[in-house]
Amino acid sequence: MARKPVPKPVAKPDSDDLLAWYDRHRRRLPWRALPGKTSDPYAVWLSEIMLQQTTVAAVKSYYENFLALWPTVADLAAAPVAEVMTAWAGLGYYARARNLHKCASVVAADHGGVFPDTEEGLNALPGIGPYTAAAIAAIAFDRHAVVVDGNVERVMARLFAVTEPLPQSKARLRELAARLTPDERAGDYAQGVMDLGATVCTPKSPACVICPWNDRCEGRKLGIAETLPRKAAKVETPLRRGVAYWMMRADGCVALQRRPPKGLLGGMTEVPGSDWIEQKGRAKAAVGETPPVATKWRVLPGVVEHVFTHFRLQLIVHTADLTAAQAKKLGPGIIWTPLEKIGAAGLPSVMAKVAKHVIKGMG
Ligand code: SF4
Repeated sequence: MARKPVPKPVAKPDSDDLLAWYDRHRRRLPWRALPGKTSDPYAVWLSEIMLQQTTVAAVKSYYENFLALWPTVADLAAAPVAEVMTAWAGLGYYARARNLHKCASVVAADHGGVFPDTEEGLNALPGIGPYTAAAIAAIAFDRHAVVVDGNVERVMARLFAVTEPLPQSKARLRELAARLTPDERAGDYAQGVMDLGATVCTPKSPACVICPWNDRCEGRKLGIAETLPRKAAKVETPLRRGVAYWMMRADGCVALQRRPPKGLLGGMTEVPGSDWIEQKGRAKAAVGETPPVATKWRVLPGVVEHVFTHFRLQLIVHTADLTAAQAKKLGPGIIWTPLEKIGAAGLPSVMAKVAKHVIKGMG
């Protein structure tokens, strides 16, 4: 009697393949140690906080500048928060900078300047959520921690052909990531999957031919890899509008002020302005309110546009040259800044756009 053919065992993705690939093809990043070595927890923490919602290319110079200014967590804790905010300006998501300073202070004061070496201990620090705690635990302390970011979710969804859309599939993708995480070299493995997602298994046109898992990838076999991960339909981002008031004194100084410490862009320097009000429909004019001082205002043509996480913003800029008496009426909260020093004023990106818009209008 003819024997039934024995089915070939299906090859499963394996962390060793990825680690071998990581040893040869990892990205050389300033905060990384050599494979098999753990990195300085302060450097890992700093880079991980900076990398949230920001690209590696944008982070590099900020990271190097922070380490040059504050080489240890104790140095950062001792720095005035305003200086930290200024050094952070341009990186966006400013709550991160405030929490960065707060976290440094807690590590310096309550932990003797030494970061806790467990996920739980790290998670208890200000500004460190589950993802960052896992990343630091794995990369700095080689703990067996499951690190899941957008890159990891994409790789897992493709590798195991998970067609359920995000965010519903999050728990499943995490479980798959946990299954693949090795007991040893968990930090290298975590960085390896992130690197694979960033350089090979990219959102568009993944380079499957050079992928260490290409013979085990279900998504590739089914020809659906590039369509994964699927995402639930997005709700439209609301639009807010407002006015920025650009006021100059005769000596060439511009009126800036500091935003309240809490809330959006808390503690950052800004050009004074109206509230930002959500507007529906296609109204052209920005919502205004009483300008800070009665004078002759000009409306600059065009709008300044900026996208925050939860809304888009359009600002119309009103400009005025103030007399000494009018400038005085603005009060002591105003930081008069020479126009040529505006680049060093620590303006967040949206306010830097306002300044650029005005300067372009002057030219
Ligand atoms: Fe991504 Fe292609 Fe590798 Fe699958 S084979 S994990 S789709 S790069």
